[in-house]
Amino acid sequence: MERAQTLARIGRERFDVLVIGGGIVGAGVARDAALRGMKVALVEARDFAFGTSSRSSRLLHGGIRYLAQGRIRLVREASVEKKILQRIAPHLTQAMAFCFPAYRDSQWPLWQLRVGVKIYDLLCRGHNFGKSEGMDARVALGICPGLNAEGLKGAVRYFDGFTNDARLVLDTLRSAENAGASVANYAPFVGLEQCSDGFRCVVVDDIEGNKFSIEARAVVNATGPWSEGLGLSKVKLRLTKGVHLVFDANRLATKDAVVIAQGPRILFVLPWGERTILGTTDTDYAGAPEDARVERQDVDYLLRSVNEFFPGAKLEARDVISSYVGVRPLIADPNGKPSDISRTHEIQQNSRGWWDVAGGKLTTYRLMAEETVDQVAQFLGGRFEKCATAERPLLEKAATSGISSIVPPEPSRELVEHFCRKEWAQSLEDLTRRRTSWSLYRRDAAELRLKVAQWMAEFFGWSNQQRETELRAADSNCI
Ligand SMILES: Cc1cc2nc3c(=O)[nH]c(=O)nc-3n(C[C@H](O)[C@H](O)[C@H](O)COP(=O)(O)OP(=O)(O)OC[C@H]3O[C@@H](n4cnc5c(N)ncnc54)[C@H](O)[C@@H]3O)c2cc1C
Repeated sequence: MERAQTLARIGRERFDVLVIGGGIVGAGVARDAALRGMKVALVEARDFAFGTSSRSSRLLHGGIRYLAQGRIRLVREASVEKKILQRIAPHLTQAMAFCFPAYRDSQWPLWQLRVGVKIYDLLCRGHNFGKSEGMDARVALGICPGLNAEGLKGAVRYFDGFTNDARLVLDTLRSAENAGASVANYAPFVGLEQCSDGFRCVVVDDIEGNKFSIEARAVVNATGPWSEGLGLSKVKLRLTKGVHLVFDANRLATKDAVVIAQGPRILFVLPWGERTILGTTDTDYAGAPEDARVERQDVDYLLRSVNEFFPGAKLEARDVISSYVGVRPLIADPNGKPSDISRTHEIQQNSRGWWDVAGGKLTTYRLMAEETVDQVAQFLGGRFEKCATAERPLLEKAATSGISSIVPPEPSRELVEHFCRKEWAQSLEDLTRRRTSWSLYRRDAAELRLKVAQWMAEFFGWSNQQRETELRAADSNCI
């Protein structure tokens, strides 16, 4: 639906539930609620997936690290969810083999890894993406050439899923819209009034500059790292920052993903088509989520770690094609180290009709949404359908083919127009960063931005000045 029509509908009608935040959690809640027959609106302050949900390691994983911390429930839930995602979004789920090397005197001894990956397979109810195995150092070096051989005792190979985080958000929203939800980006929630039968929420249309109100019987705060202090929120978060670097696969080539242990922390080297992603850091963060930046020390830490494990690669800062930074919205635990803090989620009705949904992972978003909408349905008391999100595919194949994939599609004017017309892209950065990942993936990203800006200018009727402003904004956001 056209943005103007959607906003007119949002301002005119009364909703069962208003979702605030268009990251993966908000998108999941909107889709689930709409499929159950609720009348749903969703508002996003910036672009859909602007927040943490376009800045992850893109893994659908139980988290082998959490197993070592004894967080069996979290691992089991995520392991089941990654298989569900493979069923409902096959275009965004790629099985990925991980090689986890074990070194002499490491905190991750080989015997423990061997036991761990077997438990990991079992927690997937015996249906992981592939069967894990242990191997000696010689075989490990055959699988991961270039790996540091000094002190290598052997390795394990296990399986998880790889996705495209921002596309998962967008396709979940497209699915929500197909099920009847009204969704709008560049529409921040700025306040609310409680009424006898729900809420009157104030939202700004940042494109047109208007303010309007939305009436809803229930509200779900799904604003991730922005959740604290929003409306009636009682969430307490501990934010941690995570940085990723992207390299040309020629400079750091691995067929399998590789796990790099740094003390108790683990980092990933992830093959992504012609590129390799390296990440992530995990450090406490105190600023506004949108102000997080890739700092020199983040880059140095990542380069030091990868060069220790792949000494022949000799990677330097100038080898970095692109980088990105995200902020994890972890449930507050002031005592633990950032990497120790639980990745479990919390769903609380903190005021009558107002839910805060926080924490969790990209991998478990569907489950978070299901549990939230179960509670909202009970509160609303209507006769709604049962949750269908684990069975129903997000979209038909025809709606994703050539458009939505793990490795970005080839650029074309037709595709750019599709994103503007059908996928709510408003700015150049919406298109090159979140609809496509071109700005992270393409070596010719700067030249491509010029071309895409021209196509968007012709589509939206931008003036030359507006096109220049878009180019400057997209360039400055190329982190
Ligand atoms: C470095 C890093 C790596 C990660 N890797 C993985 C991984 O590999 N696998 C995995 O499963 N998980 C991973 N995660 C975790 C995962 O990315 C997050 O748990 C998830 O994306 C959080 O989604 P969300 O919807 O809660 O928050 P967000 O994606 O941040 O969405 C919240 C949205 O709310 C919007 N918003 C804020 N204020 C308002 C307002 N007033 N009105 C309207 N909208 C508003 C924001 O603009 C934002 O778009 C990683 C996280 C980080 C930081």
